[in-house]
Amino acid sequence: MLKPRNTISSLPVYHPPLAGRRGLRLDFNENTVGCSPNVMQRLQQLTVEDLAAYPEREPLEKLVADFLGVKPSELLLTNGVDEAIHLLCQTYLEAGDEALIVVPTYSMYRIYIMASGGKLVSIPAEKGFQFPTETVLKRMSPNIRFIVVANPNNPTGTVVPKGDLLRIAQAAPEAALLIDEAYFEFYGDTALPNHRDSPNLFVARTFSKAYGLAGLRVGVLVGNSNQMEAIHRVCSPYNVNAVALACLPQAIADQAYIQSYVAQVLDSRSRLEEALRTHGIESWPSQANFILLRAGATKDAAAAFAEKMRQRGILVRDRSNDYGCEGCIRITLGTAEHTDRLLKALVENVGELTSSLGVPR
Ligand code: PLP
Repeated sequence: MLKPRNTISSLPVYHPPLAGRRGLRLDFNENTVGCSPNVMQRLQQLTVEDLAAYPEREPLEKLVADFLGVKPSELLLTNGVDEAIHLLCQTYLEAGDEALIVVPTYSMYRIYIMASGGKLVSIPAEKGFQFPTETVLKRMSPNIRFIVVANPNNPTGTVVPKGDLLRIAQAAPEAALLIDEAYFEFYGDTALPNHRDSPNLFVARTFSKAYGLAGLRVGVLVGNSNQMEAIHRVCSPYNVNAVALACLPQAIADQAYIQSYVAQVLDSRSRLEEALRTHGIESWPSQANFILLRAGATKDAAAAFAEKMRQRGILVRDRSNDYGCEGCIRITLGTAEHTDRLLKALVENVGELTSSLGVPR
């Protein structure tokens, strides 16, 4: 009988709750109003020929490389950051090699590490979800061949100082260190200008979040040219589709749109922080387009909170199953108008749950 490899049979299933997402979508850290109108205009101009031909990545790689201030040989466009993570695992992990993450963090890291036969080394975050730099440095060994850090982190929104990341890169010359900057636009600090300091340092960006193009699936991986050459060997030449490639110039050109959206998100973040403080709800300072909060002490409390928000037309994400996150909810931030709706529902929700479930205030 046909059987998957053992590593695949024992993989945990990651099935994000994408079905029936009706309402205001504050559950997946997407842009709540979508992409620049210029991207939609470009989409409408696509021709039969554009779709008939295999997609050519290189001209767009040159454009994105210029935009990011790196050489085209240092950059690969990917099918979202997810593919970049997968490619790094395939390029650097032999079966049994160790790969290090700090939890809680983005779920796909462990999936790709384990699928590649890597041995997961999972280090818990410190109090307040702070990054345990010294513990990570102490755990370094030549067996560790891949380290991935989301900066800002998902689901916590916490960040690691760049100096700490560079120390880790230098302490682990035999490991590929990926700094996943999926939420860069909401934070502003980046390790990109440092990618030449250490040949094992990689930086990933995405068009899924601030740019509002999660459905197109475009990410960027930047690293040392020699290392990128190895990664190219693993990658399909057609990994980013023609529609996505056609839209990228418009997406990148409209920086005014991105800046205006990011400004609204940052304002929304302050407004939500303030509302949570007012209602005595624990949350963690975030540098991303979302906030993690403690809806209650138990999984049930978080589930009840998410369900009540859903009934009020707002989708939020229950993160109770993540390490250290029991009772926690992650809420994406969007435009001012969306935040008005969110805060109204939140205040009603807190009032209702406080009386019915005894949610701590
Ligand atoms: N990295 C982090 C930290 C994320 O939170 C996410 C999505 O939630 C991704 C990567 C996925 O990015 P992409 O859509 O570019 O694959």
